[in-house]
Amino acid sequence: MAERKVRVRFAPSPTGALHIGGVRTALYNYLFARKHGGEFIFRIEDTDSNRFVPGAEEYIIESFRWLGINFDEGVSFGGSHGPYRQSERRGIYKEYVRQLLDGGKAYIAFDTPEELEAKRKETDNFQYDAHTRMQMRNSLTMTKEEVDRLIADGYQYVVRFLIEPGKAVHVDDLIRGDVRIMSDILDDKVLYKSADELPTYHLANIVDDHLMEVTHVIRGEEWLPSAPLHVLLYEAFGWTDTMPRFAHLPLLLKPEGKGKLSKRDGDRLGFPVFPLEWHDPKTGDVSAGFRESGYFPEAVINFLAFLGWNPGTEREIYSLEELVSLFDISKCGKAGARFDYQKGMWFNHEYILRKSAGEIAEAFAPIVREHGIDEPIERITAVVAMMKDRVSFVSELWPLCSFFFVAPTEYDEKTRKKRWKEDSADVMTELADVLSGLDDFSVENQESVVERWIESKEYKLGNIMNAWRLTLVGEGKGPGMFDISAFLGKDETIARMKRAIEVLG
Ligand code: GLU
Repeated sequence: MAERKVRVRFAPSPTGALHIGGVRTALYNYLFARKHGGEFIFRIEDTDSNRFVPGAEEYIIESFRWLGINFDEGVSFGGSHGPYRQSERRGIYKEYVRQLLDGGKAYIAFDTPEELEAKRKETDNFQYDAHTRMQMRNSLTMTKEEVDRLIADGYQYVVRFLIEPGKAVHVDDLIRGDVRIMSDILDDKVLYKSADELPTYHLANIVDDHLMEVTHVIRGEEWLPSAPLHVLLYEAFGWTDTMPRFAHLPLLLKPEGKGKLSKRDGDRLGFPVFPLEWHDPKTGDVSAGFRESGYFPEAVINFLAFLGWNPGTEREIYSLEELVSLFDISKCGKAGARFDYQKGMWFNHEYILRKSAGEIAEAFAPIVREHGIDEPIERITAVVAMMKDRVSFVSELWPLCSFFFVAPTEYDEKTRKKRWKEDSADVMTELADVLSGLDDFSVENQESVVERWIESKEYKLGNIMNAWRLTLVGEGKGPGMFDISAFLGKDETIARMKRAIEVLG
């Protein structure tokens, strides 16, 4: 058989915000597609109308746009295998349901929900399968005339997959190897419901993967139990030659390491589990997003790429292009990956270190303006250059840097007690005189002049610098004193010192 072009898909159901595990699934599909020069499809699996949530599809598209994960085909991207929204493919599925019925691979069942419930009560662990199907109301136990009459009379029915017992089913998984189960444990899954004229997930998923020429199905571990059924469906349709290879990704675990990561873990520990902020249209609840929490898309990608896979090196910072070239699906782990959100913050910090002060200043400028400060971008950039290496998020800059833009009006009590001595007012007055005599207020010039003055007076450098810091900053934090004074300029520096001398006495 000729090598087929690699085609993978991300196929979310629009049932709400996209969980971060779904983002990782999409990322791995993207990396795999790009690595193998293949194509990446975006399909919307919306056959369960009860679970449809308005806005979810747009949310998902916007999430990937923000992350820089691009699709080649699909809903909102176009392509030659569409439509890509399953609710627009009803006619196609009907045809394939018919094919299974005609081939004796599926059958029609009329059992009402009440009848099924009664059966479940009567029989422990009731399962609709080879052992029970002949006791039920279906096209295997009724005559063709009866079946046709019920349909003509408008009775609702479902189409069930006829699973033959006693068969070993193999799922060839790129991560888990050969996963084997016996067909006996499977039930005759519902493939189609007449009530809404829609297929269920299983049928639509297989038909679409086939028609869209999908070569690899890379998805979360929660779908592994469905995989044997999917293999049997490929066989029933006679599509085994083009059956995709499977890869079921490891679960994302709670930060503590036990149990599946949930939204509640995020609420509990204060981290987002969604790419973008999500406003639930039903409950009105707002859930935090990585974007709104100040994460860089590159950092999120880098973080997620390492949840279940790594290139086997010591290095941890990789661009999306580098990840593409290194990615190897067979190196994914089987064991769950702990969602260490602090590692996510660490990644963000690493990206702050690597980004230029100018780039960070662009993101910080709106925050500065929000505080009513009108400084040119060059000045904001200068502050960012001094301070950015200390933070993990741009939002952390303001509390750390506000003193550059706003003169202190109060002086931290603790620092004052510790740093403001008997003679501080006099010494600071002297220092202000020294500084006001300078024409060149550069860091270097201030430094050499002030140091000479300290030496000649036999003052203690530490005492001077600590008191001086209190006058300019209002507390004991900040970068080097000469960096601060050079940024403020001579007039502002001296004004702040005079005010402090007055207040602190
Ligand atoms: N619609 C399924 C989901 O929401 C797709 C699972 C699969 O990839 O087969 O994840």
